[in-house]
Amino acid sequence: MAKSKTVIVTGASRGIGRKIAELFAVNGYNVLINYHRSENEARNFYKTLRTKGLSVALYQADVADRKQVDNMIRFCLAQFDTVDVLINNAGISQSKMFIDITEDDWENMVKNNFNSVFHCTQSVVRYMISKKQGKIINISSIWGMVGAACEVHYSAVKAGIIGFTKALAKELGPLHIQVNCIAPGIIQTDMLKDFTTEDLEMLSNNTPLMRLGTVDDVAQCALFLASDKADFITGQVMSPNGGFVI
Ligand code: NAD
Repeated sequence: MAKSKTVIVTGASRGIGRKIAELFAVNGYNVLINYHRSENEARNFYKTLRTKGLSVALYQADVADRKQVDNMIRFCLAQFDTVDVLINNAGISQSKMFIDITEDDWENMVKNNFNSVFHCTQSVVRYMISKKQGKIINISSIWGMVGAACEVHYSAVKAGIIGFTKALAKELGPLHIQVNCIAPGIIQTDMLKDFTTEDLEMLSNNTPLMRLGTVDDVAQCALFLASDKADFITGQVMSPNGGFVI
């Protein structure tokens, strides 16, 4: 029997990351669930998947910290013997007028949303290069494509992730490692907790498909990009956004 593939999903205790982890596990992947602070949520999620007989492991790490990331990759290899797919999902958001963004806000945004992508990718890619195969999937945002008022720092790092994806895809293509990006539209998760009902209704009405996105809309894109069906796709931005950005 062919050995199962292994995926690492960062920031997977809730939201989009959690759904991606679940979908991959159900589809036969070994899944390393990374979480940072939501210990209880992560443990309960892990237990639920284990009870269903799925092949999952749990690892606490701040993915903005290189040492913790290197230890996580070592743990994953010890546990599952391989890393085939990395999904850089962990991230934070903040809504603030540009003029009010402090140096700490800026650094926090860069650290959690962008340095994390650099650390996880570089740590995993060392192993993937030795195998001459692998897939990296980075979660950006539509705001990285078109920019959002009151989210300049968020938009900037998410745009950075798109540039990172394209450049790395060119560098790693000859080594059979695909690097792609998913830029979701407005997806119903905790990240929208500061939006009012009226805001969400307005966003939904301004979406050609007349609804907000679900975590499953994003997870299905990740599953496709990780699959053999996407073997000729690299350096691309796939945007599940209901037509909000065309
Ligand atoms: P979420 O807040 O529910 O989940 C984000 C997760 O990332 C949290 O569990 C958080 O603890 C984790 N995380 C943050 N920093 C971390 C770190 N340093 N180390 C480890 N984990 C860390 O939000 P979500 O909506 O599920 O967002 C997931 C990704 O999708 C993010 O990158 C986000 O920017 C992106 N995204 C979300 C939307 C949306 O509308 N929800 C739209 C576009 C893109």
